[in-house]
Amino acid sequence: MTESVLVAGGGIGGLAAAFALAREGVPVTLLEQAKAFGEVGAGLQLGPNAVRVLESWGLSPALHACAAFPEEIRARDAHSARLLGRLRLGPMIRARYGEPYATVHRVDLHNLLLEAARTQPGVQLRLGERVASYEEQVDGVRLVLESEEVLHGQALLGCDGLWSRVRSQMLGAVPVRSSGHLAYRGLVPTDELPAALARPVVTVWLGPRLHVVHYPVRSGEYFNVVAVVEGVLGQGHGGDVGSDPQSWTHQAHAHDLRRALGPACDDLVRMIEAVPEWKLWPLNDRPPVSGPHEHAQGRVALLGDAAHPLRPYLAQGAAMAIEDAWTIGRLVAGRRGAAPGGIGWQGVFEAYARTRWARNAQVQQRSARNGTIFHADGLLRQGRNVALALLGERLMDNAWLYSGPPDPVASAL
Ligand SMILES: Cc1cc2nc3c(=O)[nH]c(=O)nc-3n(C[C@H](O)[C@H](O)[C@H](O)COP(=O)(O)OP(=O)(O)OC[C@H]3O[C@@H](n4cnc5c(N)ncnc54)[C@H](O)[C@@H]3O)c2cc1C
Repeated sequence: MTESVLVAGGGIGGLAAAFALAREGVPVTLLEQAKAFGEVGAGLQLGPNAVRVLESWGLSPALHACAAFPEEIRARDAHSARLLGRLRLGPMIRARYGEPYATVHRVDLHNLLLEAARTQPGVQLRLGERVASYEEQVDGVRLVLESEEVLHGQALLGCDGLWSRVRSQMLGAVPVRSSGHLAYRGLVPTDELPAALARPVVTVWLGPRLHVVHYPVRSGEYFNVVAVVEGVLGQGHGGDVGSDPQSWTHQAHAHDLRRALGPACDDLVRMIEAVPEWKLWPLNDRPPVSGPHEHAQGRVALLGDAAHPLRPYLAQGAAMAIEDAWTIGRLVAGRRGAAPGGIGWQGVFEAYARTRWARNAQVQQRSARNGTIFHADGLLRQGRNVALALLGERLMDNAWLYSGPPDPVASAL
């Protein structure tokens, strides 16, 4: 039996999964709806948990060639510019977790995984192919594309993102949950920033009903700037009412953002004004995963945003997709030597779902909670600032998260 595992979606999660499977000798056919892998997206943060996976895959040199490694995370007040708290990264985070904290352009991380997957024998990448539906059979999965072509595989991984078709078929077509938040994002060349803002630091500006995050990407040559405000696309915020809700690239206007920010300190205004062009993206998620059945059923599993879409306030969307992929690879490696066709995909996916669901749910919960804390006003805001002043680093560090991913093989012993 030489049938591949079918992977729906070629984002960070799909490519990571294709790579993780192929390096264990499993043939993979990946279907991506886009006609070409494009230059879409901006910055992503990778905690030591995600960097650990890339390191274990031998991809550290490629990461070091394109990422930045900031010295610290600083939380500052968007109005007064006051430093509220900081988490040292650099040598401190390496000493604590054995891996650095990286910031990277989504396109660079995507390219890195694309090259890694392409160079594995047994990976077939098919672009311009949209998955329509699947049917689980006794000995495999039958997949139907929108072109009406039918493919067969031993198993199916739905890595098709927030609006996943595989998820809808597995769990029912439940609409995504709107956060009521909009993300303005842009890139600015580092050499166009004032020196005080060009330092290799992740800065999080906190203000009532808004926050702004900026950090270096592309080996420090650019800064990624994301401003999250409360509002609705088209109503005072670029885009058009009724325009494609799935788009990551709605047109945005700097004057709408300035109005939404209201009074802001000079450093923050300087950073916002340095960005030459903004894109807009409405933030949606889903309630946290409620059990392993939401991660996998039979020979079909969900991975990344298809399984656990989250708000980006813990900066772990890409990291969790990479951890998911690593977990599946690790479980397959544990069955090396099984006869072809004898990997036992149901067993692999059951163990995968058991290992991943609670951690992913916790990251979803914490991400949503961070949004409330970041945007706090009144008493909650005062309480947050006091807690940051008193606990600072202890509050901003996440040992439970950064020491991951949990090893599914070790936990089964
Ligand atoms: C274009 C784009 C830009 C992004 N920009 C940012 C950003 O700037 N900052 C940030 O923090 N996060 C960004 N993200 C989200 C981030 O990449 C993800 O949250 C995270 O990496 C998890 O990735 P994923 O592979 O699970 O999902 P996604 O990255 O959403 O990838 C899903 C993939 O599946 C494909 N797909 C969807 N439906 C089908 C189908 N029926 N058949 C075949 N293929 C299908 C999509 O085209 C996409 O390539 C972006 C995602 C996309 C798709």
